[in-house]
Amino acid sequence: MDARKLSRFATCEDYLACPVCGDALSLDGTCLACSAGHRFDIARQGYVNLLRGKHNHDVYDRESFASRRTVFESGLYAPIADAVCKALEEALGELPTRTTQPLVVDAGCGEGYFSSVVRKRTQARVCAFDISRDSIQLAAVREPEDGIAWLVADLAAIPLQTGVATAVLDIFSPARYNEFHRILKPGGRVIKVVPTANHMHEVRALAAGSLQQHDYSNQRVLDHFAASCTPLARHTVSNTIALTPELRDALIAMTPLLFSVDTAAIDWSGLTHATVEAEVLVGTWNA
Ligand SMILES: [Zn+2]
Repeated sequence: MDARKLSRFATCEDYLACPVCGDALSLDGTCLACSAGHRFDIARQGYVNLLRGKHNHDVYDRESFASRRTVFESGLYAPIADAVCKALEEALGELPTRTTQPLVVDAGCGEGYFSSVVRKRTQARVCAFDISRDSIQLAAVREPEDGIAWLVADLAAIPLQTGVATAVLDIFSPARYNEFHRILKPGGRVIKVVPTANHMHEVRALAAGSLQQHDYSNQRVLDHFAASCTPLARHTVSNTIALTPELRDALIAMTPLLFSVDTAAIDWSGLTHATVEAEVLVGTWNA
């Protein structure tokens, strides 16, 4: 096993919890182990599967992964990553400094684009998890950073100890606020990114005839956020870029909006630009 991949879990006893008994997990050879003897192998790619029971949540195929990578590398999402880092740096600056490095949890990290940017910019320890094993496997293989602990895990039962995280990121992903609250330190921040009605409006306009839901509203998500924590800040971030034919094809293949649409039946030649637009919400619970 590559020592750098094992080093991703070097400080995990500070924050990981055994999914069976809840005790701290620590690195033991090429496993994570708790004091009760539950053991979890570190996969050779450098991640750990902490899902209990049978799950099969791999919704993306390999082609979709390649497309997602192409889109992320285009810089389309870079302003959103910038806004997340800025919100995070503010949070890290405001919270009392401690002897240990801050811990940032990326909940529903997918193949880890945002986790990686955050790690590079802030040098915080990052624990990133997703329920999709395929996503985590790819993230763990591709990501050279040693400071990210990659996990296959369930949002409904996050295998982290109580009160260990400085911030939780929840980017284009479902939320479980009671779990976020539990794992955060007092005064820790949740940073949630939710698309606006303007998100991918060029794609939506061309696919309008095939979409089940013509208009998107994020109001329900915003209301749930405001009801679940104390909102501190809200910024809208928008970015429009010109599409090359390769990027256009990748975007069509990776956009969840189109997963149930026969994309081959639509004339995409008019799709020359794409917009991503999202709200970055920052919230906390009583310090
Ligand atoms: Zn255990």
